[in-house]
Amino acid sequence: MTNRKVYYKHWIDEEADILVRLNHPPYVVNTGMAISGLIHIGKCRSDLLCPGALAIRLENLGKNVKHYLTLYTQDPFKAKPPLVKSDFAEEYRGVRILDVPCPEGCCESWVEHFLNPFRSALSHFEIHPLMIATTEMYRMPKMKKMIRVIMEKQEEIRRIANRFRGEAKKPPGWIPFNPLCNKCHAISPEFTEALSINLENWTVEYQCKKCEDHGVSNMEMGKLDWRLEWAAIWHVLDVDFEPFGKDHAMAGGSRESCSALAKETLGFEPPRGQPFEFVAMLIDGKSIEMTSSGGVSFDFDEWPKVAEPEVLKYWYLIMKPMKHLEFNPARIPYLVNEYDRAETAYFGIEEPQDLQIALAMKRSYELAHNETPPKEVPIQVPYDHAAMVSQIISVLSDRKAVLKVLRRTMPIPTEASEENIKYVLERIRRAYYWTTKYAPARYRISILPEISKDVKQQLREREKEALGLFADALEARKWTPVDLKAEIYRIAREVAKISPKRFFQVIYLVFFGQKSGPQIAPFILSLDDEFVVERLRELR
Ligand SMILES: [Zn+2]
Ligand SMILES: [Zn+2]
Repeated sequence: MTNRKVYYKHWIDEEADILVRLNHPPYVVNTGMAISGLIHIGKCRSDLLCPGALAIRLENLGKNVKHYLTLYTQDPFKAKPPLVKSDFAEEYRGVRILDVPCPEGCCESWVEHFLNPFRSALSHFEIHPLMIATTEMYRMPKMKKMIRVIMEKQEEIRRIANRFRGEAKKPPGWIPFNPLCNKCHAISPEFTEALSINLENWTVEYQCKKCEDHGVSNMEMGKLDWRLEWAAIWHVLDVDFEPFGKDHAMAGGSRESCSALAKETLGFEPPRGQPFEFVAMLIDGKSIEMTSSGGVSFDFDEWPKVAEPEVLKYWYLIMKPMKHLEFNPARIPYLVNEYDRAETAYFGIEEPQDLQIALAMKRSYELAHNETPPKEVPIQVPYDHAAMVSQIISVLSDRKAVLKVLRRTMPIPTEASEENIKYVLERIRRAYYWTTKYAPARYRISILPEISKDVKQQLREREKEALGLFADALEARKWTPVDLKAEIYRIAREVAKISPKRFFQVIYLVFFGQKSGPQIAPFILSLDDEFVVERLRELR
């Protein structure tokens, strides 16, 4: 091997170092979230977890950091079926999100309905952004001052905005403000138009096409045209870094036009940014982008139920921001395995050959833990094994039973710390939830109460004999999963003279009534000895 010098720096570290060099404390990391519907894990890549890791990195460097999550509560409602019924979608189309009721009647409002589960899931991820609603911002003096500047420079702003608008140019006299209709609460430019603005009284005269109302409403209730709104928020929060979806990143796209508005007329430097690719859902083999308003989502609050929050953070941190990701709930065991591999590398137990990859894995693991990983390597129960064990023990709350079953199949040190044991039990609980909701059929097991008639008829004498020999072997000594697997091969080939593949099928048949199942040796070992031996001898 050549002694190639390896240089590796995680993009979070690079970005943190650049921001520190710019020396503009406090360091403000901002992200935005429209509460347009389900808050999915895809959104949380660019708007929560990655920028959260950056904010925490800056904090760990001893900097004064503000991490904001801007909630766009003044935005117009645009949810569609299947997320909502079509009459609900129609009734509230274009209405300010803040004014939309809960779609299921279970809480105060639309915003609460989608924000509450998100909020409670956040605590598991150990990321604590300061949430600030745009509704609140429109009442702030700093925002009002910015709106005043925008309204005074209307014509200049129109010219800049039009540079990025292709054919759909804004006409002279365009007021970049979306007023709220007092009567139906529409706020979308599709319905309400600002006719004139009164900065003295802070009111706007509007015409509403949704309910035909013509009136005057408080400007605090309305909102800026969204490109100006974005730029104004940068100014109000004094943002240093804000990531954005790749849809905003194109040349001439919204990020570029907002930056031009900030620099050329509003008089401040736009923040640094980072474009992010989207995360798609794999549904029936088809890749579909996650969308909040359309209801294609793996909800953020669902994640801690299926796997450790650090697994998701790790996946997002090891992948480059502009890598398009596909998420398939059936493949969660794979993501957990990848995370476990990084953990093993981090603790120096087993590292990939490629030093660059090893460094990326270790640093991403560390960042996934907010740079304070556990002191000792946790006991890693492979996820598919956890899934199997979870289905064998019916009472998940009985930790003694769980540990007893686990110990038969893998080494669990007797002196394991309470924290470690808790970690193991949590993974098993999560894997169980996953098997009930997302696991492909091959992961689901259900042991037959007795061998079926049909199976009895299928098996040949030699195969029944082999099952008996297997029972004898099990009784003769204690086995490890590896040795037991070898023994199954030996019995098949040398004693019973049947193919090992067939012997595996036979074993599955007597337990499940089907020809496939979980890894056989750990499965057998996880069961009660007496029960297994009895079942294997039943046909002798
Ligand atoms: Zn509700
Ligand atoms: Zn109206």
